[in-house]
Amino acid sequence: MAVDRSAPVPLCDIGLQYRNLQAEIDEAVLGVLRSGMVILGPETAKFEEQAAAFCGAKFALGCGSGTDALLLALYALDIGPGDEVILPPFTFFATVGSILRVGAKPVFVDIDPETYNIDPSRIEAAITPRTKAIMPVHLFGQCAEMAPIFAIAERHNLQVIEDAAQSFGAAYQGVRCGTLGAISCFSFYPSKNLGTLGDAGMVTTNNPDFHKKMTAYRNHGSEVKYYHKYVGWNARIDAIHAAILRVKLPHVEGWIQSRRAAACRYHEMIESAGLLSSLKRPTVRDTGLHTFNQYVVEVSGGRRDALLKSLKADNIGCEVYYPLPLHQQECLTDLGYTTGDFPIGEAASKNVLALPIFPEITAAQQERVVEALAIHLQNAMKYAA
Ligand SMILES: *Cc1c(COP(=O)(O)O)cnc(C)c1O
Repeated sequence: MAVDRSAPVPLCDIGLQYRNLQAEIDEAVLGVLRSGMVILGPETAKFEEQAAAFCGAKFALGCGSGTDALLLALYALDIGPGDEVILPPFTFFATVGSILRVGAKPVFVDIDPETYNIDPSRIEAAITPRTKAIMPVHLFGQCAEMAPIFAIAERHNLQVIEDAAQSFGAAYQGVRCGTLGAISCFSFYPSKNLGTLGDAGMVTTNNPDFHKKMTAYRNHGSEVKYYHKYVGWNARIDAIHAAILRVKLPHVEGWIQSRRAAACRYHEMIESAGLLSSLKRPTVRDTGLHTFNQYVVEVSGGRRDALLKSLKADNIGCEVYYPLPLHQQECLTDLGYTTGDFPIGEAASKNVLALPIFPEITAAQQERVVEALAIHLQNAMKYAA
């Protein structure tokens, strides 16, 4: 296949997905505008029903963002001051931010170097009498190793909250995320597996009490209008986003298949290009279904940043998720962690590089990415030497 060496390859292509569904999305949005039912309303209720069915959960509740979803889950489980929540240090800030926002204490546990997900074998050492919950993150589209996490949670009477923001549609041992914890939290940020054209999120649960509580918290803690049982906030999903998500939901399974196919192509192209000695491909566990929200390779030996820079200069959309682990963030110094506390997460931060992946990416685009990788890896090696 001829490779166009000048065409930019984006990290993901939100505009293309919109254009492919434009007539339907425009109609759905206009339908909401014309109906005047722009807050919650029938579109939201229908989306929640369909999304719950997709995830195999009894209840789904749309909310303003993935961050709102995490907060709703923590409030529903009565987690607050004096409580501790266990999470990995290598994730997006919202995971730890939500714990701190409810007044609880985050306790980090280092990650598995292969999947970047929390390492279950290190969790028990971090449990104290104040531990209330474990919050595993299904990073980059692959579920955390949930069976040992459940075993630990059961032994110590802890709740499990899934941060499934990056993994809508992923599965573990044949079960889709959405029921892999007491409460599961999703984000519909545009670049996620199921993304809207703005901000939105969702919580799912099989527990009717948690569902009822989160429904109240989403709407200023009120069950009866103007009577407030809890101090909630406005965590509602916009009806416009529910309508957009309803158009996209039937496509998400196909998109996940396309992401997986693209990941397979990268896997082979990287090997054929002879790059295996200088670059590590993502590890896929056979316990679950990886949805490849991100395709993340590792480049060690201090070459990553030079490589990132030259790929960007070459119009290849790359990104580093995440360049600084949470325990080293400026605003979290009060937690008392220091460099060296989580060496695996720290190493990942120095070495990971996400390559362009989205359902519509073509083999030709991927070939261009891998060709550029081959060229710039050689240069990066020269500079590092
Ligand atoms: C995207 C993301 C969130 C937050 O979602 P928003 O919708 O942006 O608030 C939380 N956790 C993880 C791991 C994420 O990737």
